[in-house]
Amino acid sequence: MSDITVIGSNMIDLITYLDKMPVEGETVSAPDFEMGFGGKGANQAVAASRLGSDVAMITMVGHDNFGKQQLHNFHRVGIDTKCIGVGSKNSGVAPIFVDPSSDNRIIVVKGANNELTPEVLDTFREQIKNSKLIVLQQEIPLETNYHAIDLAVKYGVPVLLNPAPANKDLNLEYVSKVEFFSPNETELSTLTGLPTTNLDEIKKAAHVLVDKGVGNIIVTLGSKGALWVNKDNEEIIPGKKVAAVDTTGAGDSFIGSFAHYFTEGESVPEALKHANEYAAVTVTRKGTQKSYPTKAELKELVN
Ligand code: ATP
Repeated sequence: MSDITVIGSNMIDLITYLDKMPVEGETVSAPDFEMGFGGKGANQAVAASRLGSDVAMITMVGHDNFGKQQLHNFHRVGIDTKCIGVGSKNSGVAPIFVDPSSDNRIIVVKGANNELTPEVLDTFREQIKNSKLIVLQQEIPLETNYHAIDLAVKYGVPVLLNPAPANKDLNLEYVSKVEFFSPNETELSTLTGLPTTNLDEIKKAAHVLVDKGVGNIIVTLGSKGALWVNKDNEEIIPGKKVAAVDTTGAGDSFIGSFAHYFTEGESVPEALKHANEYAAVTVTRKGTQKSYPTKAELKELVN
């Protein structure tokens, strides 16, 4: 059984690099195109696995070629695939358009990810029961996340919920059951309905969630690092200063690496410090999963 079980999405990123964004009705040719493995769940699982954690993924790939490629990628990275199903729909994809100023337009087609229903999840109870940590995001049906939280609470397994992408329909009753809740500023604002434009506002919004019973709030603050708040503590864990070249997937690398360090036995502030370091390295490299270093690479890059 795995230390970390990630229940979430997998997507194929279809990235077109443009000289200029087309306007309505216009056809443009683009100089470059790249495909990559993505989806928040898969990204987080890959980060934890690259660091050496024993990781299982509960996800649904499509019945198409992309689904086969995803499965191959999970195997290659060393992620346990026995809880990965093949859906009746096409794989989740994210067509992404990037112009020279890095402005982007992203379309997410969840596809088979929507077939990860509470009923499907229920068939993997044993996997949940035997994990040290359950990691969730919000690219699968909300009801499935609620069922995952109910099962984890029943079996006494802590949950790390990363509420990305933001969804104002997320039920606070479920948020209050998780051990770790890790939004960025925007997601925190969406959920609480409060402004989060400066650190004071972010702290206030985080305390609202602590008062509702959430164990630990970890707000990611980009280059500034992360804010950790629980009922006894409020602390900024500073980010590492680096020259960022591509911040795509930084949030997922932070969550996946925190899961790794925490389940290895580190205290919360230690695990946050190391997650900041790991995520900082990923922003110095291009791409999403391909920017996530292994433990050996990390050692070289940080020294
Ligand atoms: P995204 O959605 O772009 O993946 P996010 O908004 O979920 O990201 P951020 O707060 O931007 O998350 O970043 C997550 C973590 O990555 C931060 O807490 C920090 O550790 C690291 N990080 C992000 N940007 C930088 C940067 N420019 N320099 C150093 N560390 C960074």
